[in-house]
Amino acid sequence: MPYNLAERILVTGGSGFLGSHLCERLLANGAEVLCVDNFFTGTRGNVEHLLDHHRFELLRHDVTFPLYVEVDQIYNLACPASPVHYQHDPVQTTKTSVIGAINMLGLAKRLKVKILQASTSEIYGDPTTHPQSEEYWGNVNPIGPRSCYDEGKRCAETLFFDYRRQHGIPIKVARIFNTYGPRMHPNDGRVVSNFIVQALRGHDITIYGDGLQSRAFCYVDDLIDGLMRLMQSPDEVTGPLNLGNPHEITMRELAELTIELTGSRSKIVHRPLPQDDPRQRQPDISRAHAMLGWAPRTPLRQGLARTITYFEGMLTDSAGRYSQVSSTNPAARGLDLTVPAS
Ligand code: NAD
Ligand code: UDP
Ligand code: UDP
Repeated sequence: MPYNLAERILVTGGSGFLGSHLCERLLANGAEVLCVDNFFTGTRGNVEHLLDHHRFELLRHDVTFPLYVEVDQIYNLACPASPVHYQHDPVQTTKTSVIGAINMLGLAKRLKVKILQASTSEIYGDPTTHPQSEEYWGNVNPIGPRSCYDEGKRCAETLFFDYRRQHGIPIKVARIFNTYGPRMHPNDGRVVSNFIVQALRGHDITIYGDGLQSRAFCYVDDLIDGLMRLMQSPDEVTGPLNLGNPHEITMRELAELTIELTGSRSKIVHRPLPQDDPRQRQPDISRAHAMLGWAPRTPLRQGLARTITYFEGMLTDSAGRYSQVSSTNPAARGLDLTVPAS
């Protein structure tokens, strides 16, 4: 899927977990990449290896403010994704999703270019149908602690479709399900990074609630492949399209698998279940398969093993001990981002 060498691609949130992988893949495919990020949850370190690349540019900017640049395509990923992060400043989360979407759609409208929105399975809320297909409208609490993210992302989808209907902009909406892999922030509170970091340090593994709630985890390389295929698809393919790995697993099973793959002696402990935590989640990806010929290829064991190797490298000091990680991000330093310890 090579990009035309002349193509300049804007990636908002480009120094975050998914964004940094996307920038890397776009560069490898021949594109020019403009990475825009306010470094709220992303770090320069995530794209440091790209800074010397002659087709890569990094710009510190908050998407809630207008942005006037010249590009040929836009991937809109800017938004904190971990519940700990997006609940830290919920008003800013809604602003990022809604005002950020308006600004990026305004940019796409002025330039008449294609724009892809990183939406989320969270728009289904605590789903009452299983697995979730794109026809399902969701079961979302509009006033709870997750609402800033869920409703912000729902409103962004509305804006994308209204800009298409009203202004004829070519849009793409991807509903991304839980994705994991190298460059997740070790302290961001998401379950895969939490469990791996806890297991590597020999700390207790913290299962919230009874651990019977389920998720379906997609390895980052597969997800990026899906996003790029969606962007390259014909204009009539607008989505929303579910992108994720249908392999469903309970949090208890994930904890046991992490212990097995790390060879850890960590014990499993239980902590209270956060409010409005979805009970189950699994994508129906038949639409993405039919329209993009896409399906994830990385089995969970393999993806987890690669992610464990990444965290081992990050956490081990020269003496071979597992070190404490603290956030390198000034904006995130005010958060209690410590991985729950034993
Ligand atoms: P992340 O927190 O690692 O990355 C988000 C990036 O956006 C960070 O670099 C952050 O600094 C930046 N950002 C936040 N607010 C901004 C603002 N106002 N202006 C400019 N930049 C801003 O999260 P991620 O996992 O890489 O998620 C990327 C996108 O994918 C998000 O939109 C998220 O909602 C979506 N998504 C991710 C997952 C997942 O499992 N990783 C699942 C569903 C949806
Ligand atoms: N916008 C932007 N970059 C552009 C064009 C527009 O950031 O290149 C912003 C602009 O600030 C505006 C928003 O996008 O508030 C929506 O633009 P639109 O043209 O839809 O609306 P209007 O300018 O009429 O409010
Ligand atoms: N979770 C857990 N222990 C942790 C972190 C999360 O049991 O240390 C649970 C959480 O309650 C949820 C699931 O794992 O049921 C996935 O959480 P995550 O924050 O990764 O993603 P999301 O809830 O947004 O799907």
